[in-house]
Amino acid sequence: MEDYPRNIMEFEERFSSEKDCREYLFQIRWPDGFKCPRCQHNEAWRISDALYRCKKCEFKIYITAGTIFQDTRKPLRLWFRAMWSITNQKFGISALGLQKSLGMSNYRTALTWMHKLRHAMVRPGRDRISGIIEVDETYIGGKKAGKRGRGAEGKVLIVIGAQIDGNHIGRIRLKRVSNASGKNLERVIQQTIELVSVVRTDGWDGYSQLGSIGYVHEIVREDVSVGKNLLPKCNMVASLLKRWLLGIHQGAVHISHIDYYLDEFTFRFNRRTSASRGKLFYRLIQQAVNVNPVHSKDLIS
Ligand SMILES: [Zn+2]
Repeated sequence: MEDYPRNIMEFEERFSSEKDCREYLFQIRWPDGFKCPRCQHNEAWRISDALYRCKKCEFKIYITAGTIFQDTRKPLRLWFRAMWSITNQKFGISALGLQKSLGMSNYRTALTWMHKLRHAMVRPGRDRISGIIEVDETYIGGKKAGKRGRGAEGKVLIVIGAQIDGNHIGRIRLKRVSNASGKNLERVIQQTIELVSVVRTDGWDGYSQLGSIGYVHEIVREDVSVGKNLLPKCNMVASLLKRWLLGIHQGAVHISHIDYYLDEFTFRFNRRTSASRGKLFYRLIQQAVNVNPVHSKDLIS
């Protein structure tokens, strides 16, 4: 059962101590009860709220090991508040906004947290979208549409994949590419779209081999200009993305951080109909716990 706070009052009540936060992490990490990452045994001694020891192999594991909270020196309560802030504002929050709302003294820490949480917004090994997908590209960070196939100065080329769901847009995928070569486009499509899906594109040459790598390729427009005249669903995603970037970052998009922004936008977009903001919080924390595979260096024994 999905168990999460519905509003700020429930949130405050629920997570008022470190113990509360750790117990919640336990529940999310091991919904069916403890499972030893080393021997898969399902019973453990509880050494403390934070530390467990396998009853069979005696392996010790911290509740935060292998999650984005590993090695943090800050209280989990502060992390939980950060996640609540991030998921409870429609347009998200900037690192500066986060620093202020949490009363953190250090901007760098707030920025690092934003990066970690954006990283968690990408489901690890997340599934590829399938069905009928529109694919097109757009430029971000420049005023004019650029020439295709060449990198335009100060601009980043983004490939958009938008699942068609009747008249609506289903889920999306966004990926940055250095240029619109066939090699780049095919790689992105293979990473994000299930084989045998229908992929609709314009007549750009970079898409010409999709049929031979396992997709049902439909050219729905012969025009090949990029940054304008996008296919309709991709166009809608592109304008929402640009508006969002403007809203939260005042248009000051740091190109070095663009992948993080794309991840955050994708997370929000694909969950835009989530009935409750609390549910978004729940998804984020779920992914924060599962984001990194458990490596041996993350565990103590
Ligand atoms: Zn064990």
